Amino acid sequence: MSESAISLNTELIKSSASALAAAIAHREISSREVTDAHLDRIEQVDEQVHAFLHVDAEGARAQADAVDAKVAAGDELPPLAGVPVGLKDVFTQRGIPTTAGSRILEGWRPPYDATVTTKLKGSGAVILGKTNMDEFAMGSSTEHSGYGPTRNPWDLDRIPGGSGGGSAAALAAFEAPLTVGTDTGGSIRQPASVTGTVGTKPTYGSVSRFGLIALASSLDQGGPCGRNVADTALLHQALAGHDERDSTSWAGEYPDVVAAAAKRDVKGMKIGLVKELSGEGYQAGVSQRFDEAVKVLTDLGAEVVEVSCPHFDYALAAYYLILPSEASSNLARFDGMRFGLREGDDGNHTVEQVMGLTRDAGFGDEAKRRIILGTYALSSGYYDAYYGQAQKVRTLIAQDFAAAFDQVDVLVSPTAPTTAFKLGEKLDDPVAMYLNDVATIPVNLAGNCAMSLPIGLAPEDGLPVGLQIMAPSFADDRLYNVGGAVESALVDSWGHDLISEVPAL
Ligand code: GLN
Repeated sequence: MSESAISLNTELIKSSASALAAAIAHREISSREVTDAHLDRIEQVDEQVHAFLHVDAEGARAQADAVDAKVAAGDELPPLAGVPVGLKDVFTQRGIPTTAGSRILEGWRPPYDATVTTKLKGSGAVILGKTNMDEFAMGSSTEHSGYGPTRNPWDLDRIPGGSGGGSAAALAAFEAPLTVGTDTGGSIRQPASVTGTVGTKPTYGSVSRFGLIALASSLDQGGPCGRNVADTALLHQALAGHDERDSTSWAGEYPDVVAAAAKRDVKGMKIGLVKELSGEGYQAGVSQRFDEAVKVLTDLGAEVVEVSCPHFDYALAAYYLILPSEASSNLARFDGMRFGLREGDDGNHTVEQVMGLTRDAGFGDEAKRRIILGTYALSSGYYDAYYGQAQKVRTLIAQDFAAAFDQVDVLVSPTAPTTAFKLGEKLDDPVAMYLNDVATIPVNLAGNCAMSLPIGLAPEDGLPVGLQIMAPSFADDRLYNVGGAVESALVDSWGHDLISEVPAL
């Protein structure tokens, strides 16, 4: 490769999705060149980062060529025309290996596209491949992937968050300008926080779950991940919308998040600091950057007040009853009969034995742990004491949010209690792993929306810190307005964006 080609490629992989879309539409560059630059980057760095489980180079080039043909023909272009995207491996893509990070689905090629996949294709995005994740989206570090962990581009000895660590690391390593994640308890926001990227959990019901391999159906929600707020809004808008094939899909109005991202006006807004999501248990540098971000908001003319959400203290406990209960039911379909792996099918075993052998070989420890927990919590005699109680707590948390949003427009907190921890550090201590999501889980239980965006590096370890913004259901536009305002004030004060500081791989 010539030197000018190398610098052009570096410029391409560091570009925002919106700049790439504009350059492609204006014929300054072809989607094929943009796609090739990202495929080259994946080839260079993904052996170390392991953000992708499957790279569909051929398919991506074909999609790029199709966009370039449209550009040449002068056709009207959809919003993400020609822009490369990474797709979390929990969404089905027709003919492309889809594993949800589990060995039990190894070799399965779905016969259909998830609605999210269809929407990406319809928006002109070029799907580069499937990103790594904790098995069935269970985890906060991507170490529970059946295919080996993803590493954090800021420090390869550290975790990129989970379960969508692959989607977040692909952004921070400049392997893709946009990626799709899912957030059941924080799996878009916590990875965004520890990789210095942006991620949104949309309001439950706004992104279709059709073709999303279910973990906990009442909590799961697909959503956008990007390197800045405006890009994330573009992808959000492309993914959201009513879908007849998902009975929980919202059929009403959707806010314009792209317009909101450009608005950046928090003057006179009321912002609530959640008392229960701060203080003890939060790393000093995380609290420091959080306090500074709050100061940015007041400097921009917002009014900041403290708000108490007393039932948030019980969110983690309720979540770890509701999630395993739903997961134990959802994962029952992986029986060795219909999809992927089958063990012991040698004529010497009964069907039940084949199911048992397949599950034993195909599920990892965390999946087994949650299936057992969920089966226990749902068993007769315990149902009311565990699952029933947890559902009541869920209602109380939703009421805390409702009461808070009577007083304020949005709530804020740190996204995660700490910066990225070392690989292996929490692997033997499930509860320590679960605690990463204390601040993100309440939103999933109540069904409203939240965003994480980078607000600086913690002084003690030089690693990214995230700010969580939470808004009422179907007020996702507020996240982008407030997030855009904070981002632009911080980037102005730093003189560059945070992600440009990620150490070169
Ligand atoms: N870390 C949480 C869990 O393990 C969140 C997972 C998710 O959002 N998919 O359940």
